Amino acid sequence: MKVITAKTAGFCFGVERAVNTVYEQIEAHRGETIYTFGPIIHNEEVIKDLEKKGVMVLHTEEELDTLEKGVVIIRSHGVEKRIYDKLNKKGIVIVDATCPFVKKIHNIVQKESNLGKYIIIIGNPEHPEVEGIRGWAGDRVSVVQTAEDIKNLLLCNEEKVCVVSQTTFNYNKFQDLVEIIRKKSYDICVLNTICNATKERQTEAQRIAEEVDAMIVIGDKNSSNTQKLFEICASACNDTYYIQTLDDLNMNQLGSVVKTVGITAGASTPNNIIEEVQNNVRIIF
Ligand code: SF4
Repeated sequence: MKVITAKTAGFCFGVERAVNTVYEQIEAHRGETIYTFGPIIHNEEVIKDLEKKGVMVLHTEEELDTLEKGVVIIRSHGVEKRIYDKLNKKGIVIVDATCPFVKKIHNIVQKESNLGKYIIIIGNPEHPEVEGIRGWAGDRVSVVQTAEDIKNLLLCNEEKVCVVSQTTFNYNKFQDLVEIIRKKSYDICVLNTICNATKERQTEAQRIAEEVDAMIVIGDKNSSNTQKLFEICASACNDTYYIQTLDDLNMNQLGSVVKTVGITAGASTPNNIIEEVQNNVRIIF
């Protein structure tokens, strides 16, 4: 049995940095309550482990509002400027684990908005990363994700516009939408702020899925990037399995005709889970 594990499987740079930050803060702030604003990662195993170590998740802004002390860790998605202002006013310690690629977008939209430009964010308006970016862009900002959204923009023709993207937005779709915006006669500057980590993971997963007999995709059931990875692998390899941990994998499913198995994992899957699956698949076959 040959097992091929994707080099890009598991944590991306920003998620790894955020998770490590939480573990470092547990050591640095012994005796204090540590909170993350939203789950630090879409992975039940990691969240349970952090809970055992006393880290609490604040799920809503209302919960954040009730805090009087403690340490609040901002996750890799980042948050609106007003959240920093609110926590600073309360004197709560902020530990910022915003991914530097996302922070760069905050800085761009803040600077361009201060220069008087209208900000257009290409992305999903309900995604926390986009909500965060929007919160650094001032009052003159729109989020678009379809041609229809662009049609509905009510800006004057010579408006100075700065266009940025959600980091995980599909590159081809981004290009198509930028072309539509260009047809309006705005004075535009476009900054491609898409992060390559997602694209590289998907490309490698597809390449492996095309050459193996069975493919295993590991990740939390609520992780949207793992779901997307599963779709890509399933369309390239009929024998594709979506598991959260080794316990979900029925080894009997991998029939005796299977000679090669590929493994990939979403951005929120820890290395120990990937290694456990990899080692067990190797032992059994
Ligand atoms: S996908 Fe890219 S931008 Fe998002 S957290 Fe990972 S490294 Fe940062």
